Amino acid sequence: MDVIELVIRGQDKVVALACGKCNTIYDLRFEQAARECCDLRCRYCDAPAPKGWISCEACRKALEQDKEKRAVEKAEKVLYSDYKGQYLFHDAFPGEGFIEADIVGDVLLEMEPEDRPAYAWACRTMPMPNLDAADLIENAFADFPEEAVEYLGHETLQDALDTWIRDQPQDLGIEPDHGTAVLLHEIAVEEFENEADA
Ligand SMILES: [Zn+2]
Ligand SMILES: [Zn+2]
Repeated sequence: MDVIELVIRGQDKVVALACGKCNTIYDLRFEQAARECCDLRCRYCDAPAPKGWISCEACRKALEQDKEKRAVEKAEKVLYSDYKGQYLFHDAFPGEGFIEADIVGDVLLEMEPEDRPAYAWACRTMPMPNLDAADLIENAFADFPEEAVEYLGHETLQDALDTWIRDQPQDLGIEPDHGTAVLLHEIAVEEFENEADA
């Protein structure tokens, strides 16, 4: 794609570049980006890549699947029947991908057979954040003189923060545990057999 050089009127000095097709302006440091703006090529297969991407969708999908496959290979495997957690996660599951573990059979049944994952990630509660008294004070008193803020003690506030966080429900959020893959083949087979019997 042609790159247009932008020049200040009356001066013969190039100050920026623009894409010849969509007119997006680029800093001089990003000449390659300007050149590739509307003519991006996948770095893996040279097919056209969508704007803002360095790879085509097919390659990106393949890479992601590959990454996920390696993560599953590395993960500890747990049979669904041995899994004690309350939730499971997989990108292919409906919504955000989190489901209650005991309805996974129903969820799989509602999915197209080719979309049904053979595993799901175990889930764990998210650890509570650390509330740091020094950080809070620094932010709240950002406009005060530094020497004045140094007079403020952190200890009592830190104790109060620690007590407060201990008193909150500790299971406010869940996150996938990519170290533990829960194998779903047994539940799938079992459910489908039940369905066939019905
Ligand atoms: Zn462009
Ligand atoms: Zn590609």
